[in-house]
Amino acid sequence: MPRILVAECKQEVSSFNPVRSGYDDFVVRRGTEFFDYHRAARAEVGGALEALAEQRRYETVPTYSAKAITSGGTLADASFARIADEFLSSLHEANSPSGAYFALHGAMAAESEGDPEGFLLEESRRILGEEIPILVSLDLHAVLTDRMLRHSDAIVAFHTYPHVDFYETGARAARILMRILGGEARPVTARVKIPMLVRGDELITDSGSFGQVIGEAKAFERDSRGLSAGVTIGNPFTDVPALRSNSLAVANGDLECAVRCATRLAGQMWERREGMQASLTAVAEAVGLAGRTRGTAVLMDAADATSSGASGDGNAILREVWKSGFEGSVLAPIVDPPAVSSAFVAGIGGSIRTRVGGALDPARFRPLEIEARVKMLSDGSFRSETFGSEWHAGPTAVLESGRRVLVVTSRPVSLYDRALFLAHGHDPKRFDLVVVKSPHCESPMYRDWCGRLINVDGPGATSANVRTLGHRKCARPVFPLDSPPEFVPEVTVYQRDRYA
Ligand SMILES: [Zn+2]
Repeated sequence: MPRILVAECKQEVSSFNPVRSGYDDFVVRRGTEFFDYHRAARAEVGGALEALAEQRRYETVPTYSAKAITSGGTLADASFARIADEFLSSLHEANSPSGAYFALHGAMAAESEGDPEGFLLEESRRILGEEIPILVSLDLHAVLTDRMLRHSDAIVAFHTYPHVDFYETGARAARILMRILGGEARPVTARVKIPMLVRGDELITDSGSFGQVIGEAKAFERDSRGLSAGVTIGNPFTDVPALRSNSLAVANGDLECAVRCATRLAGQMWERREGMQASLTAVAEAVGLAGRTRGTAVLMDAADATSSGASGDGNAILREVWKSGFEGSVLAPIVDPPAVSSAFVAGIGGSIRTRVGGALDPARFRPLEIEARVKMLSDGSFRSETFGSEWHAGPTAVLESGRRVLVVTSRPVSLYDRALFLAHGHDPKRFDLVVVKSPHCESPMYRDWCGRLINVDGPGATSANVRTLGHRKCARPVFPLDSPPEFVPEVTVYQRDRYA
């Protein structure tokens, strides 16, 4: 039976978060533990395993998985070296494979390696040889690099934002791999670099104009000549030389067809660039608006979005709440290890005077002095509302200061759903102002019932106001950091020799 190696390495970073992430920020799984996890989770590897199992012709071989617990700052070099070594050693140990599938993210960055996934692919190719097809799946926010394209046979990227097609993307990659192994597919890839960074609601594929572009990519995949197509928009916070958007089309042997598709997708993105920017409200105005809202005002603090790699200790909205004397009830999350420690020392029911905010990113956030009662202490472990997986915020304290409730964690967790609040006894529906540290929130969780949803223009390592971040490494000019350069789509073609 042909043997298919399966490996995974996923993390998304913000280069603007001053806190380095490390090996301990990953969950590492090997062998059967790796597959057992994915048979229960509906992510890329699970989708690939199911698609491969359908044909009953392949043996799947679990190798290595390093999956970040949540997004974070740039990965420390030593930690990336350890992960790369473990990833690559596991490939060495695999016995004569026929093909490989890698679930990667594409928006990692280590201190001195701006393209960790490209590095893993180049080294994997060295180990596995030129003849073995390697299929790769990437996040929609991947920073697509030349090195990733040169050392893989085909790339498949998510089609949805917010991402809901993890499982389907893995299955798409596995099906292409099986077609290659069956001698039915000879992938040729066309790629166009699009000098733009995008953000905002038009990216929501269900409702925004990005969905129309992705619709074209899906139509290409349904065509008998198309294997894979999409647009990777890059994570605007991963400041590396290759940061930009890219269109990608992989055709079955038909170069012209791939070139046409990639060119068309790039043109459509460029036409929409002005619309694909976030529309934001200043912090003071947002808190003022919340005071005039019937029902709950949800203040989306995308600038401090932990799921995008920010530190989560941003207190700009809280500072305004205190300063303005906002009278309504407030619910907000914040990462602050020293504040949590004070709460644990005081114990439940104790009163503390503490500082919140700026514990991790002091250059952006000045600590805010508050007096509060400790209402709850926990170990910070709970299940995500969206995926059911276990999340770990570390020791966590619920602090109450008048009508203001802060859920203070020791480490960042994703905050795009309500899980942290609900797990700590607070339903956002019962508050006048709720801070959501995410660039988006799922409709049933906030959007459908809130009185008003406000995208706040606060400071932070993941600000949608990308001009404020201070990019130093990404190739320029790029929209909107620079005024729009003339854009003439240039296609680069990638095809491995064995298909030529
Ligand atoms: Zn993403």
